[in-house]
Amino acid sequence: MKDIIPTRDKLSRYKPEIDVHCSLCNYPAETIDHLFLKCPYARSIWLAVNINVGTILTHHGSFRNWVISWFSAGTNITFGSNITRQDINNLLMVAAWTIWKDRCSKVFQNINPNRLMSLDNINNLSNSNVQQVTNVIRPLQDIKWVPPDNDCLKFNIDASFKKETLQGGVGLIVRDFVGTCIGVKGIYIDGGMKDGIEVEELECKALKDAVNLAVKMKLKKVIFESDGETLIKSINEPDSYVHWMNQTLILDIKFLLSSLEYWRCVSVRRKANCNADKLAKRARVMRASFSHGSDLPHEIQVWIDQRLFYNELILINRMFLHQKKKKITQN
Ligand SMILES: [Zn+2]
Repeated sequence: MKDIIPTRDKLSRYKPEIDVHCSLCNYPAETIDHLFLKCPYARSIWLAVNINVGTILTHHGSFRNWVISWFSAGTNITFGSNITRQDINNLLMVAAWTIWKDRCSKVFQNINPNRLMSLDNINNLSNSNVQQVTNVIRPLQDIKWVPPDNDCLKFNIDASFKKETLQGGVGLIVRDFVGTCIGVKGIYIDGGMKDGIEVEELECKALKDAVNLAVKMKLKKVIFESDGETLIKSINEPDSYVHWMNQTLILDIKFLLSSLEYWRCVSVRRKANCNADKLAKRARVMRASFSHGSDLPHEIQVWIDQRLFYNELILINRMFLHQKKKKITQN
């Protein structure tokens, strides 16, 4: 790691005529930190293996310092089910190597990276060394929002309802492949919902609103995620599983979807959908609808960042607990 990676920025010191732009995103300087941490492509790879680059930069400052930390003190820590720090290092090294390999294919063969194939490769390569690494990573997927592919946007939707007040809210959030928020929306609904099936009705309305928005924005590839399993099942299958009074909403959604070029409706765990849930609650509690583009109010931006940071804390916390346990058994 002694500055030996031949990035364009480095090569230009010896060969000034070299183009120093990043071959993957055209950023004006392909430095090590850019290529491995700041480049949107690298960020999307790290995000997929549960690493939040923002946190890494805050803690380590540079890619070099981060890599050094992989190998300093405690490489034999075990956590999860007998997973060692070394196992996690294998995953990190394979991911970094994949980013470099993808960059070289672009530079030398003009082949655009295929993120899905690269992630598959990372999985296979780290699996062949350590079968259990994915056992640590997998439970995190349930509580973690997973970004879409790089040519796709993802909508997360949710609803909130309070029986006592008969007030409800709907929340939408749109994000891209790096996890950047493109926009959020909250709709306040003051009563008038169908008695006993309010939550389902609001969830249907949330999805209808999201699809409507995607059509208006003329989006090409969209994924819609909700934790309402019956709703998603009703969209994906010919039969409808929602209450009969909500079935017209399902038909409306299916009609709207037919004008999109590519779409998928996916049901996710609650925790992976928590930002949409918070937006729905916010609209209900504040008794006001709202809508923001990428310039988010500070309060909402904080939720989104906190969520990413939380995933990493879980990993660090698990490592710490097992290190502690080991010390106790050693004494
Ligand atoms: Zn780049």
